[in-house]
Amino acid sequence: MKINTESCVISGKQTVSVSHQEIEWNNKGTLLKISRGGICGSDLHYYQEGRVGNFAVKAPMILGHEVIGTVVHTDSPELHEGQTVAINPSKPCGHCKYCLSQEENQCTTMRFFGSAMYFPHVDGGFTRFKTVDCAQCVPYPAEADEKVMVFAEPLAVAIHAAHEAGDLQGKRVFISGVGPIGCLIASAVKTLGAAEIVCADVSPRSLSLAAQMGADTLVNPLHDSLDGWKEEKGYFDISFEASGHPSSVTTCLEVTRAKGTMVQVGMGGAVPEFPMMMLIAKEISLKGSFRFTTEFNTAVSWLANKVINPLPLLSAEYAFTDLEQALIFAGDKTQAAKVQLVF
Ligand code: ZN
Repeated sequence: MKINTESCVISGKQTVSVSHQEIEWNNKGTLLKISRGGICGSDLHYYQEGRVGNFAVKAPMILGHEVIGTVVHTDSPELHEGQTVAINPSKPCGHCKYCLSQEENQCTTMRFFGSAMYFPHVDGGFTRFKTVDCAQCVPYPAEADEKVMVFAEPLAVAIHAAHEAGDLQGKRVFISGVGPIGCLIASAVKTLGAAEIVCADVSPRSLSLAAQMGADTLVNPLHDSLDGWKEEKGYFDISFEASGHPSSVTTCLEVTRAKGTMVQVGMGGAVPEFPMMMLIAKEISLKGSFRFTTEFNTAVSWLANKVINPLPLLSAEYAFTDLEQALIFAGDKTQAAKVQLVF
């Protein structure tokens, strides 16, 4: 059976269109009607620069990896027509050494929605209809708020980062960079038992959102001194770098106590003056955090059960046909945190 769909397609730097496609439903997997999608930093990079890091858009690709929808047809006995589901954008191979050791986010041939990492590119979820694997569908109660449930993917990223830090119970936590991911990390570490959460950002608007998402203390490095937190080799047990800015990497190492842990979440390029000696002498554990594994299901559960409320982060909603306006607004960080598309 052929299904007509319309999709948000990127062809290169600042070149997007909403175009018609025909997709095939051959009674395998699950056909979904997408209801809503969140615009992420990588979607913005593809729009603004035509690339994310080294991965350039070389052929038209459907954007989007934060999407939810409703089941239209499925071959899974665990799903039914009309079921509301959050869509896990990860499709690991299932048989590489990482997949076999429950480290699927490191899969060597991961197929992740809306990513130009491989060629041909993997299409994303900003489309009216899409066929996915049944395993990518995580059901949630129909009465849950769609605006909330679209946060499953970024919340999964935040919970994974929190898990990378180890036990959070009673810990003092520093988060540098409180865009949507930094704010969701604040809410995740609070839920997981952190005793004190200090958030730093140069944007007063982002800091006020962090306060609503669980921060106890806000600090703007443009005006406020962090010196007190650097005394005695650092104050915080755990720091999260969520901006990707080189100076923020240094700040995190300075305020993290000796023997503490720093988790790098923000994506960025080289850090020219990386303070190698500080990392060595303070014996800090420096960890990367990339995407998520089982945390996607945890995030769906937290949102459906109102464990956290992500709605302070929702800045605007657009019809998907207004894709370019939505991307332009979402790219203006003085106004926008998370922007959602309605399908
Ligand atoms: Zn694999």
